[in-house]
Amino acid sequence: MAAEIIDGKAFAAKVRGQVADHVARLKSEHGLTPGLAVVLVGEDPASQVYVRNKGVQTQEAGMASFEHKLDAATSEADILALVDKLNADPEVHGILVQLPLPAHVDSTKVINRISPEKDVDGFHILNVGLLGTGQKSMVPCTPLGCLMMLRDHLGSLSGLEAVVVGRSNIVGKPMAQLLLGDSCTVTIAHSRTKDLGEVCRRADILVAAVGRAEMIPGDWVKPGATVIDVGINRIPHPEKEGKTKLVGDVEFDSAAKVAGAITPVPGGVGPMTIACLLANTLTACCRANGLPEPEGLTA
Ligand code: NDP
Repeated sequence: MAAEIIDGKAFAAKVRGQVADHVARLKSEHGLTPGLAVVLVGEDPASQVYVRNKGVQTQEAGMASFEHKLDAATSEADILALVDKLNADPEVHGILVQLPLPAHVDSTKVINRISPEKDVDGFHILNVGLLGTGQKSMVPCTPLGCLMMLRDHLGSLSGLEAVVVGRSNIVGKPMAQLLLGDSCTVTIAHSRTKDLGEVCRRADILVAAVGRAEMIPGDWVKPGATVIDVGINRIPHPEKEGKTKLVGDVEFDSAAKVAGAITPVPGGVGPMTIACLLANTLTACCRANGLPEPEGLTA
């Protein structure tokens, strides 16, 4: 049996298309243009690529994109002042401060300064609390993308056994909350979990968010399970000397022989993250204007 490959690239393109359609309607019917402000502090090359991609995809969806590139030496007070300005700007519906911030800046303080209604990354403590108590919130983009793919593939998740490997605040914990919200029976595993293989083998839904190349072998996967691989790991290329390749946290070839469905790396979860950022910005704009939220694009 070979697993169905969940095509995150195609699914993300579909989500972006839905967002763009909704944005066009907001413009024509209400004269509204959702706006996303991205704040980048410093020269981190990976962050620069992310921010550039976010800007391009925001504009492609018909939204306004506001980029604020600050010098690495910018003081915390100046970053907070910019966040205050964006909080007060009616053209800005979503604010994303690209992490990591330079060491002299308190990231938690900056994130918690963002107005919770504009916190499209879903990292503000209020949104974390709302999600944890099952209330309407802004949901972190990567786990939201995983949830959308799971619902699309499985329909109802109710009663399924879900195992999330990883307990970070940006992926593992919110993923577990979302699965609980959809009535899964949820286990969160981490580096101290005993007999991780046995725990994983219980999972109808296995989400790997660890950051360790191919650490989950095929024989940890329950036959027929749906496997969502969040991990992005760069390893030396096995065939091309001096080159690298991207792999997930799951050993793809062996897992794909057992699973019912699996996301590849690259081309699985990754493309969904920016698509969900756009969806969250649209949702924030609708909420700010008392309009119905876009169907199928929220948790
Ligand atoms: P973190 O490093 O913050 O968290 C990793 C988690 O994995 C921790 O909870 C840790 O446990 C757990 N862990 C580490 N080693 C083991 C082990 N041997 N067995 C079981 N659990 C273990 O990572 P993130 O959550 O930020 O990211 C996880 C992965 O997802 C990374 O590869 C990252 O690049 C990727 N990612 C991908 C995104 C995308 O868009 N596709 C977005 C965000 C992340 P403990 O808490 O006990 O230390």
